[in-house]
Order: sequence, then C-alpha cells, then structure tokens
Amino acid sequence: MTSIDLAELERAEIEQALSELGVPEFHGRQVFQWIWARGVTDFSGMTNLAQPLRRALAERFTVGTPALETKQTSSDGTTKFLLRLRDGRQIESVFIPDTPAQTFCISTQVGCAMGCAFCLTGKMGLIRNLSAGEIAGQVRVLAHETGLAGAAFNIVLMGMGEPLHNYDATMKALRIIADKQGLALPAKRVTLSTVGVLPGLEKLAAEEFMPNLAISLHATTDEQRSQLVPINRKYTLDDLIAACAQFPVAKRRRITFEYVMLAGVNDTPEDARRLVRLLSGIKAKVNLLPLNEAAGIPFSRPADERVNAFAKVLADRGVVVSVRRSRGRDIRAACGQLIVEGARASAGQSLARALGSDRGQTNV
Ligand code: SAH
Ligand code: SF4
Repeated sequence: MTSIDLAELERAEIEQALSELGVPEFHGRQVFQWIWARGVTDFSGMTNLAQPLRRALAERFTVGTPALETKQTSSDGTTKFLLRLRDGRQIESVFIPDTPAQTFCISTQVGCAMGCAFCLTGKMGLIRNLSAGEIAGQVRVLAHETGLAGAAFNIVLMGMGEPLHNYDATMKALRIIADKQGLALPAKRVTLSTVGVLPGLEKLAAEEFMPNLAISLHATTDEQRSQLVPINRKYTLDDLIAACAQFPVAKRRRITFEYVMLAGVNDTPEDARRLVRLLSGIKAKVNLLPLNEAAGIPFSRPADERVNAFAKVLADRGVVVSVRRSRGRDIRAACGQLIVEGARASAGQSLARALGSDRGQTNV
C-alpha cells in the first residue's frame, strides 16, 4: 500500500483521512498545524499527539517536502533556492527581500508549454505540472528557511510555469497556504501572473479565494502579441481585455499588466499610446519589465531612457505605471533567466524613483 502524502491535502481532507482511522477530527487539525504553521513534517516531532498515534500516523502517511539542494544569495539579497522534487525534477523558488515587502516567487510547473519568445522557461516546454503539495511546499520551505513563518510575506506565482495551465493544483495550493491554522496567507498577499488562458481566467473570476491578478500582456496588436506570446493565436487581445474588464477586482485594487520591453520591437511611444487606449476602462496598472537578456533569447533590453520615455507616455495619460528593477541577476534569479532549474524574481522600482516624481507605484 502506498502511503498518502498529507502535504497534498487541505485541512478538511486531513481531518477526514484521520477520522477514517477513528482518530478524532481535532488531531487532524493539529497535524495540519504542525506541517504548515510549524514546519514539522516528522510525526515523531508532533509532540502534542500521543506516542501510539504518532506511530500509527507514521505507518500510514508521509509528509512530502521539496528538498533543499542549494541556495544562493545575490549581492542584492535575493536568494534563489534550488529544490528537488520526489521524482528528482528540480525547480527554483526565489526570496526577494525588502521591496519593501518580503516576497516569495513560486513555480507552478516544471517548464512551461506557452513558449513565449523571450522566456527561457518557455524554451524548455512543459515537463510536468507541479502538485498542490509541491506548489504550497515551496512556500513552506522558504517561509521556514527565511524565518518568516508567522510573519507577513507576499507570494507571486511568477516562477516557472503558467499557473492557469495547472489550475486545480494551483488553486488547491493557495487554499492550503491561506488556511488560518497554517501559513494563514491572505489573498491580498498573493499575485497570480498569467499570459491569459481564458477558460482559467473565467474560472478564477468565480473563486472564493481571489488573488491579485497580473496579466502578461507584452504587446498591443494581435499580430505582435501572437508572435511574442503564442497563446494569443487562440485567445485574442480583444477577448483577453474583455475578460479583464469583467474580472471582479476588489475595491482600491487594480489588475497589473506586465509588459516586457524589447528594444526596437514593442518599445515605441506609439506602442505606449496604443497601450493606454487598450487599457482605458480597466482598473489597470502597468508594470514595465525591461528584458532580462539571456543566451538563446533573440531580443535585447532597451536603454533606460527608452523605458522611461515609454513610462512617461503612460503616466502623462493617467495610467499608473512602475518599472521593475530586476533582482538577483548576478545569480540568474531574475525573470526569464532560468532554463533547467527555472524560476524568476524581480522587484518593483517605482517610477517615482526612476523619474523623480511621485506618480508611480512600487510593486512586484
Ligand atoms: N507564466 C506566467 C508567470 C511566470 S513568468 C506569466 O507569463 O505571466 C512571470 C513574468 O516574467 C511574466 O510577465 C513574463 O513575461 C516575464 N518574463 C519572462 N521572461 C522574461 C525575460 N527574459 N525578461 C523579463 N521578464 C520576463
Ligand atoms: Fe510560460 Fe510565462 Fe515564460 Fe510565457 S513567460 S513561457 S507563460 S513562464
């Protein structure tokens, strides 16, 4: 009999699994607390359970945890964690400190099927989906490694993979990390970044747990977006924007539109003006991501002045805009720089700082 991995289960499912053994429900809650609030995964260390119960649990269950292979810290404090999964596959998760928030950048797949033209993860293709326990497990490992378990931190689903292409596991992972008996992460501290897999976006709009939404837009015409982001051939810009317009955005919140800036490709003032028009009527903010260059990526990063001029067109027309400052580039932890291990990280740099005004916002 293969044993059940309790790290794959929500609290109610653990309570259920234990009650099937005749164990009172509150012990299920205690086990969940040990795993997710305290990071204890060895049943023998669950000291508020009676010894015979600990032994009985150890016979029937396991608690899977992504194994920490190595960690590497950048000169800017960004730390990249290389984690090994039970089948030997590897993923990376990134801790980005002081943006000013503490942020974990988490992967949802090994590789990615979406094949965006500027992304190394996309070059890998999809190797496999991560399970809910593997997605949530990254948060558990990083929270305990950084000493932030119990403290406030943010999660961005911006590592390897397209979260809406692994919908059920991603949402289950979010429910696990949101549980008040565990890591207790509120939805407003979670950002889900997607290229716009429309059926997933529509399902997300009806979820009880509603993370912040970031849309990887990158282009303002169908022709160009289809070249850069191939899924656009299936779900066009008009449909994507219409879905965003209908998306239930919480009061005082906005949808972030990410825009990778590629020199000479999508960085003209005309592109900026088209972007303003496209987003009119949407509670939007724009996050400009100057390309992180990498071997094998046939684009280059625009000069800072070019990025700032683009940002200024948006800001002058009342669009909230920020420029993302890449973090961890010296350890290849920045967006799009990862291929086999895979993950990305970056941090917001406010336009206020870049342009010396107070109009921008810092975000990740
Ligand atoms: N698959 C999701 C989330 C992971 S990628 C998505 O695409 O939204 C997170 C962000 O990093 C996306 O906005 C993506 O476009 C961006 N990105 C990918 N490669 C990049 C690169 N080389 N330089 C800068 N940003 C990049
Ligand atoms: Fe996948 Fe996002 Fe990379 Fe596109 S940018 S290939 S969706 S990880």
